[in-house]
Amino acid sequence: MKRNIAILCSGGDVSGMNPALKRFVEYALENKLLPYFIYDGYEGLIDNKIKEANYCDVTSIINRGGTKIGSARSKRFMDAKYRTIAKKNLDRLNISMLIVLGGDGSFRGLHQFYKEHKVKFCGIPSTIDNDIYGTEYCLGVDTALNMIKFSIDSIRDTASSFKRAFIIETMGNKCGYLALISHLTSGSELCLIPELSYNLDDYEENFRQQIKNGRRYFIAITAEGISQDSAEIAKWFEEKIGIESRVNVLGHLQRGGNPTVKDRLMAYKFITYAIDGLLKNKDKSIICYTESGFDYKKIDAVTNTPHKLDYELINFISS
Ligand code: ATP
Repeated sequence: MKRNIAILCSGGDVSGMNPALKRFVEYALENKLLPYFIYDGYEGLIDNKIKEANYCDVTSIINRGGTKIGSARSKRFMDAKYRTIAKKNLDRLNISMLIVLGGDGSFRGLHQFYKEHKVKFCGIPSTIDNDIYGTEYCLGVDTALNMIKFSIDSIRDTASSFKRAFIIETMGNKCGYLALISHLTSGSELCLIPELSYNLDDYEENFRQQIKNGRRYFIAITAEGISQDSAEIAKWFEEKIGIESRVNVLGHLQRGGNPTVKDRLMAYKFITYAIDGLLKNKDKSIICYTESGFDYKKIDAVTNTPHKLDYELINFISS
């Protein structure tokens, strides 16, 4: 008899989830497992939105952002009563292995589910915030960075034509990763992230001098988690530096878009490691990626340890 395995997406969707679903179906079948999709995250698990998946379900999705099976946040899953219903739904279909694509919140839910119901699982870090302890890379980050790069390049065209300062706000929750990497790779003049305290007065003389020397525009990248509103930074440019300013909050466009080659490949590898882990009793773990490669890390270490942005990266802008 075939063993049954299911997958769900939880929390914010990312580009790379669809390539992961494709690999999931193909690699599960290759390993004589019966693959199931759980639609709409933990909500769908509670509501029994679980369907067997086959090759036809994953044709023509590798190039699409978002997730074909939907993602969700579920208040009900925080309640043990609904987690018991979720377990019964898995049991009815004889599903004994579960893969969850999500962020640290989703993994906390998964851990709680395991403690109560002992369903074998592997988690795949999937959040554009790149803020999960133990992994240097979360699925979707590269596509998000490329969407940001495209936006900054476009804004630069108008900024330079119109002599303006543009404040470009990135997502990231409390983590400055997206802002910092975008700053380093798009050549902005100012980068403000939650991990580094700053005082705008420190830049005033230098920026005013740059205008005197002929600078026509500024690009400032701010992470959503900093204490100031982007509008306040724009006001500072107008009042203290003397340049007309505009704010661009990139928002959800960072989460969408055609998955990059890197995210497609990472999706392929994350899923391969997850299914291998479940088959080789390396479950109860999160698949993490560091310079030394992929690794299975214990879920409690991943969810109980606060994420810290790489010091080497921070030093690039603090020195
Ligand atoms: P993102 O990084 O995109 O925000 P996330 O996985 O961190 O992704 P959350 O909204 O924090 O997103 O969590 C997703 C879901 O995980 C929640 O809506 C809830 O259903 C479940 N969850 C989170 N924490 C717990 C918990 N302590 N117990 C049970 N379920 C939880």
